[in-house]
Amino acid sequence: MSSSKRRGISSGSSGGASSSNSNTTDLASLFECPVCFDYVLPPILQCQSGHLVCSSCKPKLTCCPTCRGPLGNIRNLAMEKVASTVMFPCKYSTTGCGVSLLHTEKAEHEEGCEFRPYSCPCPGASCKWQGSLEQVMPHLMMSHKSITTLQGEDIVFLATDINLPGAVDWVMMQSCFNHHFMLVLEKQEKFDGHTQFFAIVQLIGSRKQAESFAYRLELNGQRRRLTWEATPRSIHEGVASAIMNSDCMVFDTSIAQLFADNGNLGINVTISMV
Ligand SMILES: [Zn+2]
Ligand SMILES: [Zn+2]
Ligand SMILES: [Zn+2]
Ligand SMILES: [Zn+2]
Repeated sequence: MSSSKRRGISSGSSGGASSSNSNTTDLASLFECPVCFDYVLPPILQCQSGHLVCSSCKPKLTCCPTCRGPLGNIRNLAMEKVASTVMFPCKYSTTGCGVSLLHTEKAEHEEGCEFRPYSCPCPGASCKWQGSLEQVMPHLMMSHKSITTLQGEDIVFLATDINLPGAVDWVMMQSCFNHHFMLVLEKQEKFDGHTQFFAIVQLIGSRKQAESFAYRLELNGQRRRLTWEATPRSIHEGVASAIMNSDCMVFDTSIAQLFADNGNLGINVTISMV
């Protein structure tokens, strides 16, 4: 993401662009941080000569990057007022997003923006990979070779040694309907020693694609059955927030014991199209 690219977009008006549109893009460029080229958004701080620098760069600087004068903590309320009327391009404009928004709506849009890069869908934060949707499966096959894949819309996700102590993740891939799904079982130990299991399915695909599927998780035992049905998450949003909100199949150790066989737990997974 470079400033020259962003300027290229604003100056590249193809004849038909309205003047009001190019005006707001020009205004937005006034808010460019001279260090990182991201936008300087409220609260806006300036140096004694009036130069701006963004709030994430400021703590790393000892003087103004433009005039080398002292930075201080001078707020620029007029610029803050102007900022609240300017339409800022989405930060993924360089990768194809054409949306401009008020700065108050920017962060929320960018979180869900379809042009935001995808992160590695493996649970836990150990893999820092990011890339496009098309690159996710090649990444998984290259860097996470140990994940097994089963074909078919109705499979058994077998989690072995569920009594292993501490936080453990089990991951498997399921291929059906020309799509790949990642099945995740996560075991979390709370401070009070209470252990919970979370099972969830995510689609290697966009949020829109995920909406055309449903999944069912089922634990089957002797005269007992526990079922969870939902729309798969997209890997674009990931499963961490769903697990935190218990928006998935949740059960504790005693339930796991009811359905486990020799410490191994089989979860029936069924994917369907809606
Ligand atoms: Zn900056
Ligand atoms: Zn300055
Ligand atoms: Zn966007
Ligand atoms: Zn990865």
